[in-house]
Amino acid sequence: MRSRKTPRRENKSPQNLEAMRRAGLLVWETLHQVIAPMIRPGVATKELDAAAEEHFRKHDAVSLFKNYVPEGAHCPPFPAVTCISVNEEVVHGIPGPRQLQEGDIVSIDTGCKLDGWCGDSAYTFPVGEVDPEVRRLLDVTRGVLDLAIRLMATASRWSQVAAEMERFVHDHGFYVVEAFVGHGIGRQMHEDPQVPNFLSEQLRRGGDFPLEPGLVIAVEPMVNMGTKRVRTRPDRWTQVTADHRPSAHFEHTVAITPSGPRVLTAAPGEEYPTRDTSRGPAGSKPAGESPGPQ
Ligand code: MG
Ligand code: MG
Repeated sequence: MRSRKTPRRENKSPQNLEAMRRAGLLVWETLHQVIAPMIRPGVATKELDAAAEEHFRKHDAVSLFKNYVPEGAHCPPFPAVTCISVNEEVVHGIPGPRQLQEGDIVSIDTGCKLDGWCGDSAYTFPVGEVDPEVRRLLDVTRGVLDLAIRLMATASRWSQVAAEMERFVHDHGFYVVEAFVGHGIGRQMHEDPQVPNFLSEQLRRGGDFPLEPGLVIAVEPMVNMGTKRVRTRPDRWTQVTADHRPSAHFEHTVAITPSGPRVLTAAPGEEYPTRDTSRGPAGSKPAGESPGPQ
């Protein structure tokens, strides 16, 4: 989710990051331990949302999405704790009676506030066997998020990362969505700075920012198969590709620490993807969950 309302950014302390990790871990559990095992042909998207809502409730976490109204936007309050976007839906899909089918892809985006701190993450799952080109779209979108996180270990400014993300997606023949971007995150879901997945005008004209310890951002590339253009459905939330071809979305909440990027919404043991790359599963796997490209 995105808003024009961006409270000023404050660098987070190591204690703040521990609190944000607890929120991020709950988001990871919700996506990968609660929702992922339910994904199969015939499940209604509202069933996935209900399970996520129950998991947040059990842990006394507050949904970041339910009843959210972006400032200045003419939308009704968002009615669910997850955004569920199927196939040509890019982001902000509303869960409902629609049943997933074999061969679909489904993007689940969710976030919560736990003890005053936020976590935000998204993952696109295949439903059974998907077309090989759609599989490649998932691999490239997940790959560009992993690339961004790796580059955050060495780049000094976000514009360097954004330019490489744009190049990576372009080189694979796909399109980065430009209408929606990532964001700073902390006590609020949306804080400064804005975090584009491409070298935007805003980055060129003073919107660039240093990658310094204490920065926490939600990095969330959306990649379309055939065009970067998106349209808004009449429900005023759901974004769809202009050509109705598929779109994928992966997101992690990532902190910069003195020892490199820390993925606050990663699986246990996978928080530091750029550390100890020569040994151990935590260093050798990309952030998120396996498997990699097939
Ligand atoms: Mg986000
Ligand atoms: Mg999100």
